[in-house]
Amino acid sequence: MADLETWAKLSRYFTERNVTLIAVSKTKPAEDILELYTGGQRDFGENYVQELEGKKATLPGDIRWHFIGHLQTNKVKYIAPFVFLIHGVDNLKLLLEINRQALKNERVIDVLLQLYIAKEDTKFGFDKDEVMQLLTDIRSGVLHLGNIRICGFMGMASDTPDTMVIDKEFSGLHHFLAEVKEDFFMDKPEFNICSMGMSGDYERAISAGSTMVRIGSLLFGKRNYSA
Ligand SMILES: *Cc1c(COP(=O)(O)O)cnc(C)c1O
Repeated sequence: MADLETWAKLSRYFTERNVTLIAVSKTKPAEDILELYTGGQRDFGENYVQELEGKKATLPGDIRWHFIGHLQTNKVKYIAPFVFLIHGVDNLKLLLEINRQALKNERVIDVLLQLYIAKEDTKFGFDKDEVMQLLTDIRSGVLHLGNIRICGFMGMASDTPDTMVIDKEFSGLHHFLAEVKEDFFMDKPEFNICSMGMSGDYERAISAGSTMVRIGSLLFGKRNYSA
């Protein structure tokens, strides 16, 4: 069951701050999604391709599906026809495949580059130098990605009680976005998304400049992966 009251409260909180709420519905049934949909939520986030395909087939067509997990290159084709925004693009091979599938589907796919900001070696993402190189190659024409729009960055802070570390990671990402915007995207208004903040750290993320939060357990309750 979704928590409609919490959703309404959070929804107001984020709207007042110009922050987009992505309701992270991974592992949760379609009925839970419909409850929030009925309340007015349209942006939902999923991590698993098969699960997303199943939900997309049964739920209303105006839902904006965000892919927020680690995406395998060989699975891009399944979500390319309909995905609204891919948050977790963390390597060049994946970016090229998204472009290829977007072309096949005669559309442009919006993506966020995932930046590695945490001090943990289990997380995926580009580092800053790799992003600079990538954008330089795109600008110079070495790389041609005509069916992709890079709309910003996504990042996850360290899983730590040390709030100073979290604040530093979030604001570091936000500053890097501003820097990259100035260097590469001044004529691209779409490049302005900073996707950071989850159930446990969204307030810190917003203080640091987040424009998009991905909230799961606060809205849908704890996830049970063994179910
Ligand atoms: C699961 C997930 C979330 C939501 O996490 P909660 O702590 O439940 O809010 C956000 N972002 C990503 C990338 C996730 O995988």
